Amino acid sequence: TAFSTLDLKPDLLSNLSSLGYEQMTPIQAQSLPHILAGKDIIAQGKTGSGKTAAFGLGVLEHLNVKRFRVQSLVLCPTRELADQVANEIRRLARAIHNIKVLTLCGGMPFGPQIGSLEHGAHIVVGTPGRVEEHVRKGYLNLDDLNLLILDEADRMLEMGFQEALDEIIDAAPSDRQTLLFSATYPTQIKSIAGRIMQDPVVVKV
Ligand code: AMP
Repeated sequence: TAFSTLDLKPDLLSNLSSLGYEQMTPIQAQSLPHILAGKDIIAQGKTGSGKTAAFGLGVLEHLNVKRFRVQSLVLCPTRELADQVANEIRRLARAIHNIKVLTLCGGMPFGPQIGSLEHGAHIVVGTPGRVEEHVRKGYLNLDDLNLLILDEADRMLEMGFQEALDEIIDAAPSDRQTLLFSATYPTQIKSIAGRIMQDPVVVKV
């Protein structure tokens, strides 16, 4: 199925074709209509499936660029993955001016991240421990968050991020949209999904 069948902003669509993205991958074709409709989803998709563009387009379609507040938060298990996700979102966003994507990862100096947060961002991509610390200390305000994405949720739990995730989710508005991506679907993921999602659509490819 072509991206042009979706109700995407014209700028996003023309940028997709300039990136050489014409046909959706299976996970994109199955999840994007629900994501754009504002539904919560649980999707089983690995690296290479095109999951980043699936949720990245959801982030960009829902964003109000004029409102310079954190509206989307993507949580990833590692700094490498967070950097890849942030770069893919920046590529998808090329046609939209002045979008600010900020990464907040552990293992990086804390002070400069505070400075970046003071300058503001529309989208934050980060690892749970560091994001939780910024939320707890009051540097990252989630009052305007309307989209929360857990990428590789199973790996985040394996790495012991359950508590940090719970704290972040508690600080996020409850009327947000939540997207959960996971390669596997163990009981621990089912239980977190049951607590944090509303009526999720399950997508398996
Ligand atoms: P991901 O699974 O999100 O890591 O994406 C895997 C790779 O596929 C990335 O390099 C993307 O740039 C690329 N990609 C994602 N969606 C599409 C698409 N619909 N058409 C062509 N390439 C894509």
